[in-house]
Amino acid sequence: MESRIVIVGAGPAGITVAETVRERDRDVDITILSSEPFPPYAPPAMADYFLTGRDSTLFWKGRDICERLKLEYRANTRVKSLAPKTRELSLTDGSVLSYGRLVIATGSGLYAPVTGHDLQGVYNFKSLSAAKQLVDGVRAGQIRRAIIVGAGFIGVELALLLQDLNVAVTMIEMQDRLMSRMLEPETAEIVAENVRARGAEVRFDTRGEAFLGDHDVTGVKLESGEVLHADAYIAATGVKPVIEWLEGSGVETSWGVIVDDLQRTNIPGIYAAGDVAETRDRMTSERYMHAIFPNAVAQARVVAHGLLGFELPYEGAETMNSLKHLGVEVMAVGAQSGEETLRWRKHGVLRKLFLTDGRIVGFRLAGDIRAAGVYRSLMLRRVDVTPFRDHLLDPRPGAAWFSSAVV
Ligand SMILES: Cc1cc2nc3c(=O)[nH]c(=O)nc-3n(C[C@H](O)[C@H](O)[C@H](O)COP(=O)(O)OP(=O)(O)OC[C@H]3O[C@@H](n4cnc5c(N)ncnc54)[C@H](O)[C@@H]3O)c2cc1C
Repeated sequence: MESRIVIVGAGPAGITVAETVRERDRDVDITILSSEPFPPYAPPAMADYFLTGRDSTLFWKGRDICERLKLEYRANTRVKSLAPKTRELSLTDGSVLSYGRLVIATGSGLYAPVTGHDLQGVYNFKSLSAAKQLVDGVRAGQIRRAIIVGAGFIGVELALLLQDLNVAVTMIEMQDRLMSRMLEPETAEIVAENVRARGAEVRFDTRGEAFLGDHDVTGVKLESGEVLHADAYIAATGVKPVIEWLEGSGVETSWGVIVDDLQRTNIPGIYAAGDVAETRDRMTSERYMHAIFPNAVAQARVVAHGLLGFELPYEGAETMNSLKHLGVEVMAVGAQSGEETLRWRKHGVLRKLFLTDGRIVGFRLAGDIRAAGVYRSLMLRRVDVTPFRDHLLDPRPGAAWFSSAVV
């Protein structure tokens, strides 16, 4: 019987599965497939790479990771469909690949609800391939003004990068603030002030209805009927798990691939990890897609242990993010509201803690994020902070209550 492990997708999840399996098993055949032409890379490092040209963080495992680990790496290889009965994958080049065990690590792609997103000239920043097309256009002097539709996390990161590359940016956002899934209004306003101070125009409560054009994009039409024009149009309208190729395979999906706490799908021998999987939230137990890097890596380790014959249940996904390249540090962890809010703002520093039943359920920090680790630890361990709640907003290192967070 075929014993080969095949991993579809070489993002942070896919390559972590391969690396972790290889640490313990030097002999098993591992094939890893990527629809992109690059060595495995870390998407959070893309903006920095384009700004500085340094690729050591982008190719976070080293460009030669696959040779070093003796993995068969097939770049530019896209899987079209899966047949679990025969344990076969059909590739878009017409060939078929058999597997013994399979890891679904196809990550997430652009969620594109705006009509015309597939017109020539509509860019996105979801993959290195897509990002490179955009930045090549900027470097060639073809893009001096850009419109970004969507001011979520990726839209804001991209706006900051484009501003640094001297591109005039207009952002349009249907919600009343930036990064509304991550930030409550006050912290979102700090980010918006920062983005605007660098010269970007940011329009809230403005829905992009369609990218216009027959073949090439010519403008973006807003719900109000107004049409905006620029050199480049960018869809930053969210992300969704890449599961289309699983249609008809019998692998159970909802928004993403449904897995248990061992990252197993409903089909024996098939696992899923990373943005493609729907996992349990560590705080709320809700199941959904938690599309951040540390979750992808942690889930991948669970999968690798399963492939090696161990059971290492997943602790559950975290909701957290920080913004890079902003003049002010911002950190968002957990829920963005609770029964009670503790708030402190002075000298450009904002701390907001959200408490329910005397426990931290989320927090937002801006200007000084050094206390993030302590708050996160208290939150994850569900410590009742009532005895020291009056001191929480003044997190001086060495304060007596700190020990509650690190025990
Ligand atoms: C611009 C940007 C900034 C980010 N910043 C942060 C951050 O600051 N902090 C953070 O925690 N997270 C951040 N993220 C999110 C983080 O990058 C993702 O959570 C992480 O990359 C998920 O890893 P993954 O391996 O599951 O999926 P992905 O990174 O999406 O990788 C999946 C890979 O599978 C390939 N693939 C897809 N379909 C197929 C197919 N049919 N056949 C073969 N290959 C296929 C894709 O081409 C892709 O290379 C950021 C993401 C982006 C885009």
